[in-house]
Amino acid sequence: MTTPIVFSDEFNKHDTADHPENADRLYVMLDALEQAPFYKKLQFIEPEMLPEKLLYEVHSEEMIQRVKEISEHGDSWIDLDTYVCKSDYETARLAAGGVASVCRNVVEGDAPNAYALVRPPGHHASAERSMGFCLFNNAGLAAHALSKKGKRVLIFDHDVHHGNGTQSIFYKRKDVMYQSFHLSPHYPGTGDASEIGEGEGKGYTINAPLGFGHGDDAVSQLFDEIFIPITTQFKPHLIIISAGYDSHHSDQLGGLKLTANFFGEMVRRFQEVQPRIVCTLEGGYNLQWIGKCFLSQVGQLMSYPLLFDDPVKGNDDVKTVIDKMKKELGPYWEL
Ligand SMILES: [Zn+2]
Repeated sequence: MTTPIVFSDEFNKHDTADHPENADRLYVMLDALEQAPFYKKLQFIEPEMLPEKLLYEVHSEEMIQRVKEISEHGDSWIDLDTYVCKSDYETARLAAGGVASVCRNVVEGDAPNAYALVRPPGHHASAERSMGFCLFNNAGLAAHALSKKGKRVLIFDHDVHHGNGTQSIFYKRKDVMYQSFHLSPHYPGTGDASEIGEGEGKGYTINAPLGFGHGDDAVSQLFDEIFIPITTQFKPHLIIISAGYDSHHSDQLGGLKLTANFFGEMVRRFQEVQPRIVCTLEGGYNLQWIGKCFLSQVGQLMSYPLLFDDPVKGNDDVKTVIDKMKKELGPYWEL
């Protein structure tokens, strides 16, 4: 069994020209994959479109209709920074469907793990609103589908931006946990450590707001003290990683200082708890580096770790953040 890569040329019908979230991102990542020593062992799978019924279980009718109507003609903005192309209603459902079906495969044991190389991204899309380059919430739709079958799912989000959409969809639920570290203050403005969920979802939203320049060592401490202990206690059947590479030090929309190798390291840390992992692409805009960040993760999924020359050191002082998180989450988890 090998790592399937979900991909379709159709994703690049979401043709946003010189917008930072553009088709070149996928071309750069596919090029990187072709250079990888394990390229011939990979299996590419074509996504299936997400059924409309499932879409309506997570997103509001008004929001879905809006995307559908705008995408009939395309070339329009659904919010200040989110572009909608012709046929995007289908393209976005193809991205979401690709993530959902490969997550099901991994949970059922038909694949050990997987990478969904999809566009448009999803983590800013809430139940009611497309925003932040995202139309529908790919990871959220996949997690919701599995939760209906009684599975516990962790969505871990390492994009530099907080995944406000994913957080809000599951804020009152305990079947899907959301964990994120992100730059703060930064777009979209949410993700304070005090945002821990509501009702029976209390303790199932975990936010680590980091400062400008925090790097690998800071996030590594968060893994040791927060992310891994909570994941071990939560015992997810599947981990979906919202893989945003804009937390790399080079990213023009970022401000954190992660190195390319650390993206594979994060996968490795979670594999020790639950090897059933599906990464799904979110942000990441530096075309010189996203290919390497991506390969670092695919290499780790393939048990073929690669190392890149990227000796950048970020700020590692993260004690105040960890203390605050422990105070917030201590009543719910042994930390
Ligand atoms: Zn982002």
